[in-house]
Amino acid sequence: MMPIMNYDEELASRKDKGLCCYAHGRKFICDYRATDGTGFCVAHTEKRTPEEEKEFQRLLADRFDTETERLNFCGWKFPANVEFPHLFRTLADFTKAKFAGNADFRNVRFVGSVLLNGVEVNGYVHFGNEPVIGQINLSFAIIYGGVSISSPEVREGINCLGATIQGDVHILSQGLKGEISFKSATIQSGVSLEKCHIAGDLIFDHADIGERKGCWGINLNNVHIKGRLSFRSTVVTGRLSMESIIVDGPVCCEFLTTGKSLHCWNAKFGVRAMNPTSLSFYGARIGDHAGFQGAEFHTDVDFRDAEIKTKLNFKNALFKGRADFEGTVIPPAGIFDPPGEIRVEPGKGMWLYRMAKQVYQNMGRYDEAGDYHYMERCEAWQARNRWWTRHITNLFLKMRRWCHSVLGGRLQKCAKRVSDVFELIVLRGICGYFEKPWRIAGVGGAVIFICGLVYWIFESVGPAPGNPSTLLGAMYFSVVTFTTLGFGDIRPIERYSGKLIAGS
Ligand SMILES: [Zn+2]
Repeated sequence: MMPIMNYDEELASRKDKGLCCYAHGRKFICDYRATDGTGFCVAHTEKRTPEEEKEFQRLLADRFDTETERLNFCGWKFPANVEFPHLFRTLADFTKAKFAGNADFRNVRFVGSVLLNGVEVNGYVHFGNEPVIGQINLSFAIIYGGVSISSPEVREGINCLGATIQGDVHILSQGLKGEISFKSATIQSGVSLEKCHIAGDLIFDHADIGERKGCWGINLNNVHIKGRLSFRSTVVTGRLSMESIIVDGPVCCEFLTTGKSLHCWNAKFGVRAMNPTSLSFYGARIGDHAGFQGAEFHTDVDFRDAEIKTKLNFKNALFKGRADFEGTVIPPAGIFDPPGEIRVEPGKGMWLYRMAKQVYQNMGRYDEAGDYHYMERCEAWQARNRWWTRHITNLFLKMRRWCHSVLGGRLQKCAKRVSDVFELIVLRGICGYFEKPWRIAGVGGAVIFICGLVYWIFESVGPAPGNPSTLLGAMYFSVVTFTTLGFGDIRPIERYSGKLIAGS
């Protein structure tokens, strides 16, 4: 029976026997003979004589003749210009290996996964031309160059958990399957996955992208993601560009921080998301403008407590779900496009219009603010979801748009007048601004009655021939006065009644 030795005892015993002292997690895993003076075998030392270099190459070649479950390169030190064979038949384990130059796997076919956990690479990590049938695992790797992956297929995803990459990450592949993860990774320049097709998730949670000056951020233009996309608590020093991206699953941008702008032109979010509340920008901080021109939101959108530095643009955006903007911070320069250019599923746009109203109020553009206020009320009313509320509102919105477009320009005032009258009668009068019809009727009736009463009292005190002096006559006069003068706007009623009292 072998005596149980602790780490120091075993290290001393190995030195005596002349065995390689490479330890992986305080466990000695190498049984090769140490070369002179280093205490490590040819695979685990960087200081090789030319003869030892030849032996190292022979050792490397030997590995591929033996049928093993796992090719063990743990802790190997690779010279700057190492050449790998063209096929790895099994799992290739490069855990904690060191590459003096590039880790170049461009013409290598991996039948299993390739584990590069904790590797230190002085140059670039390249994958390309040949497929990887397993996973590329770069977790906790330290890479002084960049990473480029253009393999036609990566079947079990790419894992960059906690990796530190000092250059760019470029991934260009139509056959990415499994999860592409940059969780807690630090990438000093930028990440580009342009035109990739990902049949899985893309995760950037807690990552720090682009801490170096002049970095460009993240580029996900024209990417199609079948799973979910997550930027939870991610910091992007540059800009985040997602033009024409299609995400089938949910999107999480909670507490995302970007130093520059957020581009989501023509993006499609949550196309097949099952959860209705699966698109979130909750608490996001956008350092410049956020552009969602032509974007499609297929589920409810949560923008609560988000902060956008310069402006927010939803021109021609389509909201299929509810958009919640409670507590969203948009500066006065925030730009919304004219009413009607945001496409909203009926009954879903209340919060969106409320925010638009606030933006226009901040800018001092009260006409637009009024329009959005109006649309917000329509939405609130429509949200009750009765067929007649929908039909009346739709009819009214159509008529209002028609008035503005057809009668616009020369007849602008007329159009406004017509639509105001319609609004007063149909919407405020009958529907009580979609809220309390009987209260409006009650208030109207009370005003008529009080005016009539006041008129009658004053008229009956002072003699005035031809004027009504009976109570009934005064009431009739009051009704006529109310309906004629109060037809255009509801506010003048108070003014006229005040005048009436003052003048009488
Ligand atoms: Zn060794």
